[in-house]
Amino acid sequence: MKKYQMFVNGEWIESSEDKWIEARNPYSGDVWAMIPKGTSDDVHTAVTAAHLAFSDSDWSHLTASDRGAMLVALAEVIENHAEYLAKIEVRDNGKLYAEVVNQTRYLSKWFRYFGGLADKLEGTVPPIDKPDVLNFTKHEPFGVCACITPWNSALLLMAWKVAPALAAGNTVVIKPSEETSASTLEFAALLNKTSIPPGVINVVTGYGHEVGAALVSHPQLRKIAFTGGESGGRAVNTTAAHDFKHVTLELGGKSANIVFDDANFDNALDGAISGIFAATGQTCIAGSRLLLQRSIHDEFLRRLIDKVRGIKFGDPMDSKTQVGPVTTKAQYDTILSYIEIAHNEGARCVLGGKPAAQPECTKGYFVEPTIFVDVTTDMRIAQEEVFGPVLAVLPFENDDEAIAIANDVNYGLAAGVWTNDLTRSLKMADKLQAGTVWVNTYRSTSYTTPFGGYKLSGIGRENGAEAIKEYTQTKSVWLSTAPKVANPYIRR
Ligand code: NAD
Repeated sequence: MKKYQMFVNGEWIESSEDKWIEARNPYSGDVWAMIPKGTSDDVHTAVTAAHLAFSDSDWSHLTASDRGAMLVALAEVIENHAEYLAKIEVRDNGKLYAEVVNQTRYLSKWFRYFGGLADKLEGTVPPIDKPDVLNFTKHEPFGVCACITPWNSALLLMAWKVAPALAAGNTVVIKPSEETSASTLEFAALLNKTSIPPGVINVVTGYGHEVGAALVSHPQLRKIAFTGGESGGRAVNTTAAHDFKHVTLELGGKSANIVFDDANFDNALDGAISGIFAATGQTCIAGSRLLLQRSIHDEFLRRLIDKVRGIKFGDPMDSKTQVGPVTTKAQYDTILSYIEIAHNEGARCVLGGKPAAQPECTKGYFVEPTIFVDVTTDMRIAQEEVFGPVLAVLPFENDDEAIAIANDVNYGLAAGVWTNDLTRSLKMADKLQAGTVWVNTYRSTSYTTPFGGYKLSGIGRENGAEAIKEYTQTKSVWLSTAPKVANPYIRR
């Protein structure tokens, strides 16, 4: 069994407590690796190393172009190991290999894109309204940034943070989920194939309430980029507020996937499936509320049930598998408890609703793709993030009612709209309170375009050129060329 270590200052270290967390394969149920259970002392060692690398190391003296070139070189190393990294991540989180390998191949783009942006982070020279003064602005890095990731897409969400943070000149301490730390540690193992100096990228592992909390409260840290659930996000934001640290928070969602009667039916069916059953529903952008226009409600539902009934469960490494296991036992229990809540609140289950009983599912945490109808907006199944393959279907009459239902949640991460009417598409894009609106597609993200949430779905944006600014603070420099200081008692 593999015993991992943490990566700090370019070296592999054990937890100072010498304790471990089991890494369990969600498909087989087997413990396949041991992850160090880090401590606040380990966090301190990592942040100190990152701080030193930021303030006085080869990294701190690099030009932005050279820094960018290092990230581009890292991208190539990642590309060469994409399949290996994907296999590790699948073993750890049970997502389909077909999806994860797409992500790990795509990962390098973040390092290329933000590597390319490193030397384009230009300041300004404002035409200042005072004589004999030159004023210019610079975007400076914060120093040490914490990058905290969840278990559903460990490497991808790590790249969304680490690439812009480094491009801006920061150093990082990454804290992956205690459930899925292995792929991030394997990523760290690739760093010896690059010339990125020790201490620039560090990885500490362990529990959120211990290691994560120690990291966000560390006094030498100025910026936290966090992806996770609402309660973790709230804890991080509270700590950050106390010390006035900067945060980017990517949190949960209860996204509406809205199908109008003029939509291409086949595409909308696939869009509904992609929204909730891909990745076993364990995505922040899950289209967990399917809003169907009443005129097509019954026919669409019938065809959706037919299609979903044929879904193939099984080994996530098998290219024929369409739905894999839930990643953790705790999440499996949560999903089943939401199914019970939905029943108790009066929703009607028209498909699934149980642990999957197929022979290939006996060892893992499998839940049947589940569809509830007769859902009303006040039900918990329509308001709360389940983070599993459970769909709530709600009917609507017209555009305005669709908008009202879609916006009637505390979240605002994403929304999908299926229609062939351009005017309607633009109206929906305008009115939906969500950081991302997809029209006739679902679950698309890119390094080139901003991603983030409205309302309780988060603060700030990842991806796209603006994301690099989330890792900088602006300095304004004033340079006087006046021969004499004017009246010192008057503000100029
Ligand atoms: P989680 O909040 O339990 O954990 C996320 C990470 O935060 C883990 O590394 C965890 O150890 C750490 N953590 C937890 N409590 C902490 C604390 N008090 N201080 C510091 N760190 C802490 O989330 P999860 O269960 O791993 O992931 C699922 C959640 O993530 C879902 O709600 C999902 O919607 C969300 N998510 C959001 C996005 C997005 O981009 N918006 C993407 C993926 C997942």
